Amino acid sequence: PGPLMAGKRGLIMGVANERSIAYGIARVLAGQGAEIAYTYQGDAFGRRVIPLAESLGGKIILPCDVVDLASVDSVFDTLKEKWGKIDFLVHALAFSDRNELKGRYADTTRDNFINSMVISCFSFTEIAKRAAALMTDGGSMITLTYGGSTRVVPRYNVMGVAKAALEASVRYLAVDFGPQGIRVNGLSAGPMRTLAGSGVSDARVIFNYQKLHSPLRRTPTLDEVGGAALYLLSGLSTAVTGETHYVDSGYNIVAMPRPEMINE
Ligand code: NAD
Repeated sequence: PGPLMAGKRGLIMGVANERSIAYGIARVLAGQGAEIAYTYQGDAFGRRVIPLAESLGGKIILPCDVVDLASVDSVFDTLKEKWGKIDFLVHALAFSDRNELKGRYADTTRDNFINSMVISCFSFTEIAKRAAALMTDGGSMITLTYGGSTRVVPRYNVMGVAKAALEASVRYLAVDFGPQGIRVNGLSAGPMRTLAGSGVSDARVIFNYQKLHSPLRRTPTLDEVGGAALYLLSGLSTAVTGETHYVDSGYNIVAMPRPEMINE
């Protein structure tokens, strides 16, 4: 068989730099023959993202801030004009005020709750709806999530609540778009050393804790997250939808540290 993404076109949102999960996914998909359009959040990011996207053969590289719906619409107008249809979407973006990614969840402010929800959760629904309209031959979309959605990870706070809502929206969207042959899944990555990841205070502790306590005793690599995204976006997973798929070295299955790690 030829490359798994040969003849497939899609949009990847959320590349900030070469450590971004979105970039790791783009690299794997491009290596399998995908033709990819990219968005970046404003000019400062653009200076970094445009050369990276070009190095992977990207020709459509557009600014988009999901707070500004007009910029989202303009991306999909361009895709419709240049490509007519798309086959896949990667939503790999999130935001919360880093002042609230420390201390207690209970101290979250209303403003930051709304902002975090709109950018990190509802943007996926808004974008999925626009992407689905262009997936006229069916398609596959993923969003990036994290296990702080279902279990408490210290400092993750409002982002955990936003990821829980994001994972619920994956299930609702899967039902809405299923009849059109469009699949919707969440990819739940273990902690990665990225710009967004470093916004969570004590990120190093969380990272090292996962290393010590996951069955594989390490954190996932960008290529491994990319490989799982390839599975979810390609013809390898055509009966899979509405799932939250963990790519976390198995961390989520563990209930407690190994007995030898506990000093009594
Ligand atoms: P990153 O900093 O490389 O990427 C985050 C992206 O979000 C950036 O490209 C940024 O421009 C974009 N973004 C933020 N606000 C935006 C807005 N208003 N409009 C448009 N774009 C906006 O970090 P990352 O870790 O690769 O994050 C990608 C996704 O992966 C996020 O959803 C994150 O929550 C998720 N995730 C991260 C980890 C981790 O440990 N780093 C683990 C699991 C899931």
